[in-house]
Amino acid sequence: LRPMEELVRMQREYSEAINKVPDGDAMVHWFKSDLRCSDNKALSLASARAQEAGVPLIAVYLVSPQDFEAHITAPIRVDFILRTLKVLQDDLSKLDIPLYIETVDKRKQLPNRLMELMDEWGANHLFANLEYEVDELRRERGIIKSLADKGKSFQVVHDTCVVAPGELKSGSGNQYAVYTPWYRSWVAHIHNNLDLLELFDSPAKNPAKTRATLKHLFGCDIPSAPKGKTLTAEETKRFHAMWPCGEHEARKRLDKFCDERIGEYDDKRNIPSHAGTSNISVHLAAGTISARTCVRVARDRNKSKKLDGGLQGIQTWVSEVAWRDFYRHVMVRWPQVCMNKPFKPEFANVEWVYNEDHFKAWCEGKTGYPIVDAAMRQLNHTGYMHNRCRMVVASFLSKDLLLDWRKGERYFMENLIDGDVPSNSGGWGWSAGVGVDPQPYFRIFNPLRQSERFDPDGDYIRKWVPELKGLTNKEIHEPYGRGAGDKAKKNGYPKPVVEHAAARNRALAAYKAATTSD
Ligand code: FAD
Repeated sequence: LRPMEELVRMQREYSEAINKVPDGDAMVHWFKSDLRCSDNKALSLASARAQEAGVPLIAVYLVSPQDFEAHITAPIRVDFILRTLKVLQDDLSKLDIPLYIETVDKRKQLPNRLMELMDEWGANHLFANLEYEVDELRRERGIIKSLADKGKSFQVVHDTCVVAPGELKSGSGNQYAVYTPWYRSWVAHIHNNLDLLELFDSPAKNPAKTRATLKHLFGCDIPSAPKGKTLTAEETKRFHAMWPCGEHEARKRLDKFCDERIGEYDDKRNIPSHAGTSNISVHLAAGTISARTCVRVARDRNKSKKLDGGLQGIQTWVSEVAWRDFYRHVMVRWPQVCMNKPFKPEFANVEWVYNEDHFKAWCEGKTGYPIVDAAMRQLNHTGYMHNRCRMVVASFLSKDLLLDWRKGERYFMENLIDGDVPSNSGGWGWSAGVGVDPQPYFRIFNPLRQSERFDPDGDYIRKWVPELKGLTNKEIHEPYGRGAGDKAKKNGYPKPVVEHAAARNRALAAYKAATTSD
């Protein structure tokens, strides 16, 4: 059985026992990557149950430095999460709900510590939203069993996707491996189940006033970033100004985008110099906003109530939010795609080149391909990269440099503020031609064509590659090939590390060899 199926089986096995669990003295909501009060399914369930039982609601967040390591979380993202915890703690405390925060050394100690805390608080019921990575699903299964053995209950529910993984099946009864038919089925499913877009009420004020014995749970210190995940003072200042955190900021950002820019999303979303996208990914990754809210708010702005009708900008944006659901559905069915394995197994045989100089040049934005370098420098400076550029640099790493795509995937997770395991591995699989994508491996982006098409006036390149500021619009895409080599060299801009046409042929040969080897 796959981890999700095992969990569902266990939920079924214990459902009868769990239904009989007495109320206890408190209900507990366990926060993970759902750091918001509003439209949070498990939190609403916990709150409603607390109301029914007339007992207080306690929220808990356990930090394990190993958790940050396991998902190779970037320091900028760790900082964002820790800042968000403070906002969440303040918001909950206004509702008279304590957010108890504790650092646990080892990841594997976390379930036991949760259970000890429940004993300490006299709580019998634990609530949480599901995370779909393999380790998390296995851990939740263990907690269901251990709590059930102690006569307690753990309700872990679908929340992070608009449509729960496993709901959509192709004609043959399987999970779709191709986005377009999956998307049609996603839209139809929502139209038939509009309650999927309903808001889960924000938690009521703590139904029973928090007992004096629990008062110490309020105002816990927010932990510092673990070793190796800290920011410099300059980075802290820069990133805090760039990335305000918390669910109020998330909602503000979503509303502003829907009011001002969603209409032109379809035309402008591929232009990296233009602020044409929502920049909401950081909040979706931290769970400071739900995908459900995103789709609902966009739909409310549309003339048509059909997700595939009305304003084109809104339709396209919703279809992008759907990609996030898609990659989660894929991960639940084929967990290996998020465990360093290609979806198409034959590509495990590609003979990658191990050239550390080329990898370093890619990381630092010094490949001599201006669009690639601009994108990598945007990532290094802001923790974010435009989607079009993510595709360009990922294709460049895996095809032009023929470096193992997993090195790039990892570098993204080490540096992105919106690092998200399923979306990142899905994006890398797509770009490297090894993922769930019907396109054959021989679709190879030409970085020069991409640059001319999506940054025609060179504005994005000029912003991030100051060495090329003085070049004309024509020269800037390919300084050494278009007569501006002297100027580029004088300013210290490198020559291309590979020649695209030759690199393309090398990649085609390597991919082909992989598909034909035994
Ligand atoms: P918008 O264009 O405004 O889209 C709205 C939301 O839709 C996004 O916030 C995101 O949640 C979702 N979305 C849009 N495009 C995609 C997509 N292709 N796949 C999955 N979800 C999508 N996204 C992440 O959130 N985390 C990652 O770690 C990540 N890694 C990526 C790696 C590669 C190689 C590629 C090609 C794409 C990756 N993406 C990732 C997807 C996409 O690039 C970002 O979600 C997007 O750039 C975020 O900007 P935005 O919020 O302005 O997006």
